[in-house]
This record gives sequence, structure tokens and C-alpha cells, in this order.
Amino acid sequence: MTDPPALAALRERLAVLDGLHGALRLLSWDQSTFMPAGGAAARGEQAAAVERVAHEKLTDPEIARLAGELAPWADGQDPDGDEARLLATVRRDHEKAVRVPAALAADMARASALGQQAWLEAKEAGDFARFRGALERHVELAHRYAACFPEAAHPYDAMLDNYEPGLTVAELRPLLGNLAARLAPLVAATADGPDPGPLAEPVDVDVQRAALLAVLTQMGWDDANWRLDPSPHPFCSSPGIGDYRLTTRYSRQDFDFAFYSTLHEYGHGLYEAGIAPALAGTPLHSAVGLGVHESQSRLWENVVGRGRPFLRWLLPRLRELGIPLAAAGVETAYRDVNAVRPSLIRVDADETTYNLHIVVRFEVELALLEGKLAAAEVPGAFDAGMSRLLGVEPPGVAEGALQDIHWGLGALGYFPTYTLGNLMAAQIWESARAGLPGLDEDLEAGRFGSLREWLRETVHRHGRKFPPRELLRRVTGGELSSEPFLAYLEDKLADAGVMPAKA
Ligand code: ZN
Repeated sequence: MTDPPALAALRERLAVLDGLHGALRLLSWDQSTFMPAGGAAARGEQAAAVERVAHEKLTDPEIARLAGELAPWADGQDPDGDEARLLATVRRDHEKAVRVPAALAADMARASALGQQAWLEAKEAGDFARFRGALERHVELAHRYAACFPEAAHPYDAMLDNYEPGLTVAELRPLLGNLAARLAPLVAATADGPDPGPLAEPVDVDVQRAALLAVLTQMGWDDANWRLDPSPHPFCSSPGIGDYRLTTRYSRQDFDFAFYSTLHEYGHGLYEAGIAPALAGTPLHSAVGLGVHESQSRLWENVVGRGRPFLRWLLPRLRELGIPLAAAGVETAYRDVNAVRPSLIRVDADETTYNLHIVVRFEVELALLEGKLAAAEVPGAFDAGMSRLLGVEPPGVAEGALQDIHWGLGALGYFPTYTLGNLMAAQIWESARAGLPGLDEDLEAGRFGSLREWLRETVHRHGRKFPPRELLRRVTGGELSSEPFLAYLEDKLADAGVMPAKA
């Protein structure tokens, strides 16, 4: 059976759009790695130009016309097939883009660039007043954006949908509330444990990089498709198929950071690399949401990387690779890398306290959008949240409300996806264990192919074909829940001797 001509015409347009998005990712990767600082203004103009063309292509009425013409044909196709799902996704993307006036989209892009600069200056000066105006502008724009989607029950929902399609405040509020309530006693129970040590002693950056690449190679990395470069903030980007770029930050003193951040980004990269080639050139050849994306990075970084079977394989291997280990043995290392220590900075937080940072952010964002909090009151509200949930008090705004770039960019609604990733990782892990009975033995022997291929088959290959919640249901048979994460954490903290075992 041949495809209708309208499908070929639609695919042609989608391939152009896909190419533009890849070009944008490459411009951004270059800016964050090798571009001299002086190129920033020109790069901003280049990105805006490509962005504008992409927006025009997506909102072109011809997209809607072709999708409409194909609707009767699609009704006769398998509802779970690539074509039916592609058409549904194209319609959704098009309709969403059309509802946001071009002027508003431009205002938001400009506010994001200006806000990033204001955030940087305010953070460096330790002076929130320099950022207040930018944050007020972001909140105002968020309301204007939400007004484009009047069916949303909460203005936050419209923003959230850009990062985690389909998720709402009504679901998120009880989920995070329950999580915070259950994490508090875990943090209290581990407060008096011994001070954790690092995995490795200080070691030359060249030795670190070689060791990282050797470990990654065992995990499936190859030089033909992957790169690892230095950057101030680790990230992963894939400009196109066969091109997966990770970055990390090295310091002689801190092998642990480079190691675990690289494992994290590798998890993101495997997701991108695992999307089915059959979806190439369409909007389905993309991650389905930031929650699922983060579940893949967290799974390799924390669930695998801080687990006993992996450490049993890793430690002797690191020693062979010239990394001077600090931990006396596997059990010490296992305890150290899972230690719980409430701390000021989210990106440095351990697995247990991490989500409490997110709850603080979520509470402040909601209060801002609901008009219960003025921008000027944000540092105080942030500090109060940190004190209440983590028992730490930021010494200034640079370590407090301004520590992260997200609010500078105007990315309200982004933070919760980090926690979603942690929760989904635990849920997906339960399914992986059930599907791979020899998983622990594989990890202990340095055989990573079984888990990698299981993830590719169940999660990665679908790209955006199934919405996040549907994907999670297909993989785990269940709904989004914090219970598997809490059970996993309680078990591990007891098992590692970080917390007394339950009677
Ligand atoms: Zn991540």
C-alpha cells in the first residue's frame, strides 16, 4: 500500500522544520563550548533568525490543510502506528504554535535573552534588585502566554506543558507535597551518619578524561558518533542522528563530579541515540518530555552508577585506569556516594535531598504566578523554603534564589521535570529488573548491553510517539507515582548503611 501524496508533501515540510531545529541545537552547542564570548550578540541574531523561520514553517496553514486532508486516511490506520501518531503530534504542535501570537513569542524570546543577562549580573553582584524587573517581566509574559490557552485550569499548566506535556498543577501539587513529607524523616534519620569521603583522590584532568572515555566505551560509546568536551555546565546535545555531544566540567580535585555528571549526560545521550531511525525527519524523532529525558540520565547516574553491582565492577577498573581511589573498598564507596547531606546548591545535592530543592522552587513559582508573592519577595520566600525543608540558610542570593539560570531564562515550570525524572527512573527501573532477571550480574561484570538495549526497546525508540504518561504506562503498567522512588531510596540507604535498617 502506498502512502497518499499529501503525506509525502507533509513529510517534506516536516523534514525542513527538523533540519532547522537541528541547526538551532548546533548553534547553541557551539555557543556553550567553543564560541569566543565576543560572538554572543551575533549568535543571538542568528538563532533568532532560524527560530523565526522555524516558527513560520510550523504555523504555515498548509500544514493544517495537509493534516486535515489526511485525517480520513489516518482514521483507517493503526491508531498506535507511526503515521497516526505523527499526524496527531503535527496537529498538536501546529495548533499550539498558532495560538501564540508571533509578537508574544518574540517578546518571550527577547525577555529570555535579557533575563539571562540580568540574572548573571545580579548573581555576580549578589544583588537581587538587578534581576527583579526581569522576573516581573517573565511573570507578566507567562500570564499572557497562559491566556492563549484559556482551557487550562491553572496559568502554570500552560508553561508546564512545554516541558512535560499533559501534566497539571492539580496532579503535581499532591505528588510533590507527599514526596516532601516522606523525604523529611529520611533526611532526619541520616543526619548523624559519618562524613562521606570522595570516590577518588585529586588526579590530573587528562587521566580523568581518559578514564571516563574508557568507562563509557565499555557502556557502548564509540568515537564515530559521540564527543565529550569541556564546558562550565555539563549538558548533552544531539544536532542530528549519529551525532551525540556530551560536555562535563573537570577539576583536579573533583573526579567524582566529572564522573557522575558524565554518566548523567551519557544517559541523556543514549535516549537521543535510541530513537528509531524510522521517525527521522519528523517531530516524533525527539524526546517526549523533559521528565522522561531526566529519567534516563538519572537512571544511569544514580540508580546504576551509585548501586553496589556497578561499583563492584567500577572500582577495580578505575584503579587500572590510573584513578587513585580514596574509598577503602566497595562498601565504603557505596556508603559515600549515597550519603545524605542537606546542602545549599541543587546541582550538588545528593539523591535524597535533591527533590526538596525542587519543591522549594515549585512553591515559589506557584506563588508568583498566583499573585501571592511579588518578585521582590522571592529571595525571602526561597530562603524560608530552604530553611523549612532542608534546614540550610543561603548566605546570599547568589547561593539562594539566583543559584540557577532557569528563572533568568523565564523557564517557569521547568524545575518539576527534574523530580519527575527521579520518580520515573525508579518506576522504569522496577520494570527493567522484572524484565532482566540477570541484571545485577550483568552490571557487576561490566555488561551494560542488556540494560541499554532494554531501555532502547521499551523507552527510547518511541521518541515522541506516545505522550509521557502513556509511555510510562506502556513501560511500567502504572501511573506516575512517588512510591517506587521512596521504596528504592529507603532500601538503598539502609543497604548502604547510610540509615539504620528498618526493624
Ligand atoms: Zn539532566
